[in-house]
Amino acid sequence: QFYNNFPKLVLNETLKDCTAEFQKVYPHTDALHDSLHTMFGIQSFRPSQEEIINATLSQEDCFVLMPTGGGKSLCYQLPAILTPGVTIIISPLRALVSDQSDKLNALGVPTAHLCPELTKNYDESLVLSNLQEKEPPIKLLYLTPERLCSMNMKNILNGLYQRGKIARFVIDEAHCVSQWGHDFRPHYKQLSELRNFYPEVPIMCLTATATKSVRNDVILTLALRNVKCFTRSGNRPNIKYHILHKNPKTVVQDIADIIYKNFQNKSGIIYCFSRNDCEQVAEQLNSVNLKAEAYHAGMVSSVRQKKQTEWMQNKVKIIVATIAFGLGVDKPDVRFVIHHVIPSSVEAYYQESGRAGRDGQPAYSFLFYNSYDVRRIGGFIKLTQMSRPTTLLGSLNNLAQVQVFCENNIDCRRFLLLRHLDEPFDRKDCINNHQAICDNCLNYQRDSTMKDFTREAQDLVKIIKYLTFIDYKWTLMEISNVYKGVYKTPEDKQFSKAHALYGQGKEIPLADIYRILQELVQKEIVEEVAPGTGKFPICYVRVKDEKPFGTKIMLPVYKGPSSLTLPSHLECFENKDDDDAEKNPELPLNVTRRLKQECHEGLLDVCQK
Ligand code: ADP
Ligand code: MG
Ligand code: ZN
Repeated sequence: QFYNNFPKLVLNETLKDCTAEFQKVYPHTDALHDSLHTMFGIQSFRPSQEEIINATLSQEDCFVLMPTGGGKSLCYQLPAILTPGVTIIISPLRALVSDQSDKLNALGVPTAHLCPELTKNYDESLVLSNLQEKEPPIKLLYLTPERLCSMNMKNILNGLYQRGKIARFVIDEAHCVSQWGHDFRPHYKQLSELRNFYPEVPIMCLTATATKSVRNDVILTLALRNVKCFTRSGNRPNIKYHILHKNPKTVVQDIADIIYKNFQNKSGIIYCFSRNDCEQVAEQLNSVNLKAEAYHAGMVSSVRQKKQTEWMQNKVKIIVATIAFGLGVDKPDVRFVIHHVIPSSVEAYYQESGRAGRDGQPAYSFLFYNSYDVRRIGGFIKLTQMSRPTTLLGSLNNLAQVQVFCENNIDCRRFLLLRHLDEPFDRKDCINNHQAICDNCLNYQRDSTMKDFTREAQDLVKIIKYLTFIDYKWTLMEISNVYKGVYKTPEDKQFSKAHALYGQGKEIPLADIYRILQELVQKEIVEEVAPGTGKFPICYVRVKDEKPFGTKIMLPVYKGPSSLTLPSHLECFENKDDDDAEKNPELPLNVTRRLKQECHEGLLDVCQK
């Protein structure tokens, strides 16, 4: 009866892969292969592509989860050619829209977009009048969600719908629908009206990143019916992951070294936190003769467009950007992505690092981490999201998760990333992938031992039982912080400090406490549950198995020295915190002040979202 106050839990299991269901020959099959060869000049489908196309051509609602570069566009472009009427594609970025539209027109597929500001002499009224013809000549129409919701667009869509000319709605980058995703866009929320207004029209959602709760949220928000899900492994076998210790004084030099030694004349992206950081890093790189361009939302859009084009055309190799850059950027030969700062969530890291190596050739991800940045960004999140308590909690929780991801120096990076996307992964597949083995698998192989964490695990179970008895809202991260003794208690959780075990784990690295908790989840002693409708950013923890556990909790720990096969002076992240975190848990006042000012002046691109 401890958990009577737990809300009903719904995490539906309808997300299994439907590929097998659509592996058949259809009346359209010949035409499909024909168009693939003749229009696109592509020899054969990649896994699941044909089945996805079969499903949408059978008028099913589809949810497609496929890694970046997997070939999602083809899954709606081909059906659009084969279906009477117009396929409406909603895409978040105007740059992307015109790019795709140009490519398709070049292939002879009549395509239009309604982001006229992008193209000189683009005749929007011609497109609009085409759409009002009895038989619209356009097969694909690209729109941003903002435009879709505009009044005159609604009239045009209604007209098309009444004449039965809307083939399907395609929602690209569908994770933007969900507030719990890493890239929520308010205008995407309005897509929930599509089902209401156009109940007959099938909907297809595509994304490269969505956790189980984001998928649920998208499916519920868009009211998808009997949705067919298609998931391809999110593993990126050609990307090599490295987390490095960030020394703020030398980080740019370290980045320059990496580039000089490994990526001369290769294309890459460097992600920074603020616009100022972008400008500075780019300037410093230029001063050592690495030609780099800054890119952020503070620049007028023509300038940004120009920089992006120059980079796409390899006139500039290195772009130094805030997160304003990259969504949907389709450059196949990006050889490295460097994070000058910790990303805002594990999902964001997956997505951003995933922009490397889309061509399948070896590529690298480096992330420069230190705990000071965590506090800096945490402080920033608190400042900007103060008025939205749920989002605030979600964002801080995301940040804490990426923190323990970085501080973890032993578990396979791929395993950790994919666990975040609810995909199982066997670390053997990383270890045997010699070309792209991750930093932690190297550590694991070279110098690790098994350590007994049974007592700590028992402590943690006791803490969870006690705390959830009083209030069910505890996350794995919060429990870790209580045991570590660094939990900054909000009013309503003061009681945690009273617990005898508060701070008993202070000698254990936070990342290890979190690992122990994850192991308890794995062993089904503890579970994480999402309250309510599944539309929730945070999972809460509770003890699943009341009995004292009989098994030992053993986990590998890294013993050895740094292990990087990188420029030698770059040390791999070691498990020593730059310890003022505990002495001085709050951000220094001047930093807070500066952050406030940067927020105020709109210097931080995250503010815009
Ligand atoms: P994403 O899943 O990230 O949206 P895209 O649709 O942009 O990926 O496709 C990435 C690249 O893969 C494109 O250059 C596309 O032409 C190519 N591609 C897609 N399907 C195939 C295929 N079956 N065979 C070969 N290349 C393909
Ligand atoms: Mg795409
Ligand atoms: Zn690994």
